[in-house]
Amino acid sequence: MTTKILVTGGAGFIGSHYVRTLLGPQGPGDVAITVLDKLTYAGNPANLDEVRDHPGFGFVQGDICDPELVGKLMAEHDQVVHFAAESHVDRSIDGGAEFVRTNVVGTHTLIDGAHRAGIKTFVHISTDEVYGSIDEGSWPETHPLQPNSPYSSAKASSDLIALSYHRTHGLDVRVTRCSNNYGHHHFPEKVIPLFISNLLDGKKVPLYGDGGNVRDWLHIDDHVQGIDLVRTKGRAGEVYNIGGGTELSNKELTGLLLEACGADWDTSVEYVTDRKGHDRRYSVDCTKIRTELGYEPRKDFATGLAETVAWYRDNRDWWEPLKERAALS
Ligand code: NAD
Repeated sequence: MTTKILVTGGAGFIGSHYVRTLLGPQGPGDVAITVLDKLTYAGNPANLDEVRDHPGFGFVQGDICDPELVGKLMAEHDQVVHFAAESHVDRSIDGGAEFVRTNVVGTHTLIDGAHRAGIKTFVHISTDEVYGSIDEGSWPETHPLQPNSPYSSAKASSDLIALSYHRTHGLDVRVTRCSNNYGHHHFPEKVIPLFISNLLDGKKVPLYGDGGNVRDWLHIDDHVQGIDLVRTKGRAGEVYNIGGGTELSNKELTGLLLEACGADWDTSVEYVTDRKGHDRRYSVDCTKIRTELGYEPRKDFATGLAETVAWYRDNRDWWEPLKERAALS
């Protein structure tokens, strides 16, 4: 039997990759997907071109904060995978209102609609940033939420709202908290595509503070694998961390990107004032998803990064207009 999945934010970076994968040749074959996406500056219909003619694909342009639309769509679906969010930390520092509206009110609108419509499984996509910052070791899923930016605070709020519908109403809610994703179709305001596209244009790259902030990099294919394990095999009311296993300081990452693009440090790197409240290090403990669901990141970072650089080199038509859009929005 075909499972009908409502995917929110499916025109964005991770959501579109999830949709292309599930409806692609390696997909499970028993799913139909409707994407609900507002098409904000970060949403790009072209990300879904590959699956547009798939008989199991549908697209609705709309807002997750619209209870009428959400209620109607919930009634037509079995499961929800919820990616839609305002996702860029720097924008949340400039102004958090849209982050609270979309990430908090939007998630509540969806989860409430899911409860009323009797949705079977609701997967809420969250982030490791909800745990705060950690100097040593890694967070298990039971670690208290100590978010620091308006973005991560809004995401933490949405996690709590989603999980409250499990505890209060028994809705099958599953939460994933992933580390920093990278790969093709990544909006060029985020560090890896921003640096690659700047370097391909012979421009400088802006390195925050002392460059010592550490992130764990997760390839988009591995993230999609983890999300679908949680959707198909995870347990109701549970949280699953998803990491990639490649920890790098921003300085180390910059060095690798310069090398891949044939640029050198002195002419291409510009140190800029650090991001306000910049979390020093994120690190998730992925024991639970590995042991319980058999998750294993497969893409080694050197290969993933080389493929990503090659994709941006070959797909200027995709990212050039987006850089202009990012500057205007
Ligand atoms: P993205 O910014 O690329 O895409 C977000 C999508 O949501 C866009 O298509 C946008 O149009 C849509 N959207 C925004 N507001 C909406 C609204 N009100 N109604 C309907 N659609 C709306 O984001 P992404 O990087 O693909 O991230 C997806 C999810 O993963 C987010 O929830 C984010 O918090 C989480 N996450 C991302 C990362 C990462 O490294 N990119 C890491 C951890 C967690």
